[in-house]
Amino acid sequence: MDCKNAQILIAGYLDRELDPVQTVETEDHLHACAVCSQSYKDHQVLSEGLRTGSVYFKAPAGLQKRIQRAVRQAAKAESAPRWLSWSWVRMAAPLAAAALVLFTLVPFLRGPSTEEILTREVVSGHVRSLMANHLADVPSSDQHTVKPWFNGKLDFSPPVQDLATQGFPLVGGRLDYLDNRPVAALIYQRAKHLINVFIWPSSESSDSGIKSETRQGYHVFHWTRSGMTYWAVSDLEESQLQEFVQLLQNQSPTTL
Ligand SMILES: [Zn+2]
Repeated sequence: MDCKNAQILIAGYLDRELDPVQTVETEDHLHACAVCSQSYKDHQVLSEGLRTGSVYFKAPAGLQKRIQRAVRQAAKAESAPRWLSWSWVRMAAPLAAAALVLFTLVPFLRGPSTEEILTREVVSGHVRSLMANHLADVPSSDQHTVKPWFNGKLDFSPPVQDLATQGFPLVGGRLDYLDNRPVAALIYQRAKHLINVFIWPSSESSDSGIKSETRQGYHVFHWTRSGMTYWAVSDLEESQLQEFVQLLQNQSPTTL
């Protein structure tokens, strides 16, 4: 018998459960092997202890009640959040749905209109032209120089008028980009104030009245006339810019 088998049989040997052959073989091994012999002695001590009750300890008074109380509290603590979370879900689900609808609709209901976006773009275009030292691609006060300059650069021919005799001399022309397309920019001047007029073909066939607004201290006027969209922007005093816009509008676009 080897140690592995002996270790398995030790408990049975101790309890006198082995058959006579196994009993003899186990006894022989225990006599010959110090390790298994020590293991047998340990089993004997444990077995004796269990029988005499020396390894038992009496539970302290009140332990049972403490355990029961702890179990009840744990059960309560566990069920409370579950109830809470369920009611939360029941309340939150419609709220979440409503929020989703709002977040989806708000951009459509209250988002910036095309006109607002364009106003911002126009003001930005104006400021950029003043900042970037790129006011005019074709610096000229001659409308007969400025207008042909756009040929081949745009898919339309912007009406160009000089309003020098009315106090708003033409300064030049420039290509710009607005409303997702290249546009013509005409620059006019009144005293030290510059006016950008952005022109591009309108999607509206009919003429519109002049609309105006003020943004970031700049006055913006826009209108549609003869198939063209006009946006005029400047820091010029509003009434003067309005005067300019009316002059521009009253000129026949075909005048050249
Ligand atoms: Zn052994």
